[in-house]
Amino acid sequence: MRDARFIPLKPERPQAPTGDSALPLPAPASGPATHEGPALDRLSRPLRDLRISVTDRCNFRCGYCMPRSVYGPGHRFLPHQALLSFEEIERISRIFVSLGVRKLRLTGGEPLMRKQLERLIEPLSALRTPAGEPVDLTLTTNASLLARQAAMLKAAGLNRVTISLDALDDAVFQRMNDAGVEVRQVLEGIEAAQRVGLGPIKVNMVVQRGVNEHQILPMARHFRHTGIELRFIEYMDVGSTNGWQRDQVLPSADVLQRLHEAFELQAMPAASPGETAQRHAYTDGGGTIGLISSVTQAFCGDCNRLRLSTDGRLYTCLFARQGHDLRAVLRAGAGDDEVRGRLLSLWQLREDRYSALRGAQGQAPDGHSGTTEPDLGQSGQRIEMSYIGG
Ligand code: SAM
Ligand code: SF4
Ligand code: SF4
Repeated sequence: MRDARFIPLKPERPQAPTGDSALPLPAPASGPATHEGPALDRLSRPLRDLRISVTDRCNFRCGYCMPRSVYGPGHRFLPHQALLSFEEIERISRIFVSLGVRKLRLTGGEPLMRKQLERLIEPLSALRTPAGEPVDLTLTTNASLLARQAAMLKAAGLNRVTISLDALDDAVFQRMNDAGVEVRQVLEGIEAAQRVGLGPIKVNMVVQRGVNEHQILPMARHFRHTGIELRFIEYMDVGSTNGWQRDQVLPSADVLQRLHEAFELQAMPAASPGETAQRHAYTDGGGTIGLISSVTQAFCGDCNRLRLSTDGRLYTCLFARQGHDLRAVLRAGAGDDEVRGRLLSLWQLREDRYSALRGAQGQAPDGHSGTTEPDLGQSGQRIEMSYIGG
């Protein structure tokens, strides 16, 4: 315990975890190296979706993700040599596609801040599944740099983009991005993506009670009849630096109720297992919206996602506290068969279901009660979203 006689010179503030300790990748499973069909984890969930963080840097300082009080001038981002090279990312992706991955999502940090990203997109877009199908290659971005890069990304082979935008009102948006970026810049990025055919486009809006909840209807009105799906995301208790409190979460049920007051909507069936959003269609043909309810309605049951950090660690859950060090295996000279065997073992050993356990610990599903996160028996700080990618 801290000695009460000493007053710290600077107030203590949460530090972004550097992810200093990593777990080794498990040894390849014994038995035949061949593998039919997608890799399955202990809960029979197939491996389908690999999210690749290409940088831990960002030009925004969204309070729910990279608060400036933590990610200020004193924050040390990863040094260049720690980052996976494009060749390493391509190799990893190729092996994952052979294990059943069908979707590759580039993310970050802000992925458009990684230099010459098109040099990574080109080889990734050429990957084929064992059945000869192309993979779904997509990217999540804050779109502030998209207007000038959209044509180049499309030409390199990117299929589509998901864009984050939390408000249409400039004052609200600038308070949330804390970087002085105007809504206009993001809308120009969206228009450029539409123009070059980087679609279907999705727009993600993180809804924080008391911060941007009054932007729900203006955002819905703006994106109706555009072919763009607006998705409302519950503010998640991911990482440890954003000071998440449960009363800042506006449950998806409340979002839907507000939408119903203005529009007629009909629930849609899930298009594919593992889909994160519950979708609803405007009955007048205005398009669709999605609700991503990671706090109030766990969707671990068919979670098929794996995350690769900028420095080559694999996270089998967004709420994991430690990753598995794939970079060390690659840089020690392991061949493709060994890497493949280790990745297969990692997925086969997976049993993560953080959100489901949190839900099961007696917190009311309406999201209004409870004040603390559940102790799920793991030690250490949770990993930040900007480090492992959203
Ligand atoms: N910088 C890019 C962007 O913002 O689109 C990509 C990375 S960002 C970490 C990916 C997604 O995670 C964004 O849509 C962002 O809104 C979302 N996100 C970040 N922190 C979140 C939180 N605490 N709760 C819910 N969503 C969050
Ligand atoms: Fe940057 Fe995206 Fe995080 Fe906002 S949500 S700080 S844009 S990484
Ligand atoms: Fe998947 Fe973990 Fe999220 Fe559950 S909590 S849906 S296992 S990432």
